[in-house]
Amino acid sequence: MRKRRSKSFIIPFLIVLGCIFVAVYIGVQLKKTISADTGVPVGTVLLIDPGHGGRDGGTSASDGSVEKDLNLVISLPLYDMLRVMGYRAEMSRDSDCMLCDSGLKTLREQKISDMKNRLKLYDQSRLTISIHQNHFSQSQYFGTQIFYGTKNAESKQLATTIRQTVLGLLQPDNKREIKKATKDIYLLSNTKAPAIIVECGFLSNSDELAKLKSVEYQRKLAYAITCGVLEYDP
Ligand SMILES: [Zn+2]
Repeated sequence: MRKRRSKSFIIPFLIVLGCIFVAVYIGVQLKKTISADTGVPVGTVLLIDPGHGGRDGGTSASDGSVEKDLNLVISLPLYDMLRVMGYRAEMSRDSDCMLCDSGLKTLREQKISDMKNRLKLYDQSRLTISIHQNHFSQSQYFGTQIFYGTKNAESKQLATTIRQTVLGLLQPDNKREIKKATKDIYLLSNTKAPAIIVECGFLSNSDELAKLKSVEYQRKLAYAITCGVLEYDP
């Protein structure tokens, strides 16, 4: 009898001890991966960053199309497709807004704050794909141009892969090579995490502008970028 009692006591004791061990382990892991600032897990999020927003429109076309809007309408299906593929995608913005702190009056102050806040998001993410549009004084130039971050070697690989899928699926005539970001591209030259900018096309080229404004082409771009991510990080 005595033996049985001690045995029946030991098993629940071991179960409780096991549960405590598992709970402590999970707690330690969560502490490691959750940022104190935002509550967003560090290093797991695939960030989609539609460039500009709010008072910062970016570049614009002669028909009045504004870069910030096109960036958003390409980023939204990209976000959806990546989520469907099982990635933990997040967006830096999903509406027409800046990411600046409140209470700042001048556009310059707001832009600086916006950039600093975006940089924090980039640094906390597994990787960042920022969506932008190009513009040039001469209208013949066209095609997606990809820039990559300078502080993390993975940025170049990500840019190479996405260039291949975008050009391969959509732009066989585009001969543009990927470019290393210069210092004036603040986010790419400062983030420590892998990051690229996809300048989807030129708003100064009327044929490309018409494509960029069509929902069909926006989805094709999102699809081609998603294929690049799948190849880079399956
Ligand atoms: Zn831009």
